[in-house]
Amino acid sequence: LIQLYLPLNFFGFVYREVKQALVDIEKMFSLLGVPPDVTDAPGAPPLEVQGGTVSFTDVEFGYDPRRVILKGVTFTVPAGHTVAIVGPTGAGKSTVSRLLFRFYDVTAGSVRIDGQDIGEVTQASLRAAIGIVPQDTVLFNDTIRYNIAYGRPGASEEEVVAAAQMARIHEFILRLPDGYETKVGERGLKLSGGEKQRVAIARTILKDPAILLFDEATSALDTNTEREIQANLREVSRGKTTLVIAHRLSTVIDADEIIVLADGRIAERGSHADLLAQDGRYAEMWRRQQEAAERGELVAPDRPNR
Ligand code: ADP
Repeated sequence: LIQLYLPLNFFGFVYREVKQALVDIEKMFSLLGVPPDVTDAPGAPPLEVQGGTVSFTDVEFGYDPRRVILKGVTFTVPAGHTVAIVGPTGAGKSTVSRLLFRFYDVTAGSVRIDGQDIGEVTQASLRAAIGIVPQDTVLFNDTIRYNIAYGRPGASEEEVVAAAQMARIHEFILRLPDGYETKVGERGLKLSGGEKQRVAIARTILKDPAILLFDEATSALDTNTEREIQANLREVSRGKTTLVIAHRLSTVIDADEIIVLADGRIAERGSHADLLAQDGRYAEMWRRQQEAAERGELVAPDRPNR
């Protein structure tokens, strides 16, 4: 019986470990709601990141060849700058972020980072260069330490703590019952939206990517969480190439360029002030959001109109 029990127990252990790893990968992908669907070209070199300039050139894409979603999208996020993409639901905003992460290959045109076509470099090197900070952060059912260290496997204790300090979550963690060993997630301690996001930011700081991708939650957040998250965003994106996929407008005011996507095409582009002056779709979206905020229906932007 012992002979039989030991190997089974051992395999049970291996099975659990492997399954956990798969669950984690699945969770990472589920953040963007899609399965991995592409392969590395034979002999593909790693991406060599210099400043992290992102450029989409005449990008066309459809999940189904019979239905084109992006119809020739061209924009550049210069190294260290912030570009925000706004537009109505279904315009193709999240699709842009999935293409940058290369969950899918473009049908025509190209996506480049520092001049290198992302379809021609290894996926591992591409994904190492991009940090995702979603607003509706999913934490793994594990310790706070695990959730932060996930950003760079093998990170030292000091590095984990330094990242938590930069994300301004270290003091909070020290006050938890088991500090960094406190279990969080569905089966552990529940954290607020802002706290969860700080953990995700600590993870991203540890990863130290040249490019940041913020895919905003579609669900409404309470005002305090929204403000906290906007402050987090401003802080962590300083000096990094940042693409913000904005489902509301309050996070985009500071962007160097705002792109209004409508039905898979760029309808308007410019700074917040430029777009208000153009008095087109963006100005209309802005007015509607302001009015809704006044009625208390939506979260108010934390900056006055300017
Ligand atoms: P947005 O982020 O602007 O709301 P998305 O980029 O998520 O828009 O979606 C753009 C269009 O692509 C929508 O019509 C949506 O139904 C479709 N779409 C999104 N994801 C998928 C998918 N995985 N498979 C098929 N169609 C999809």
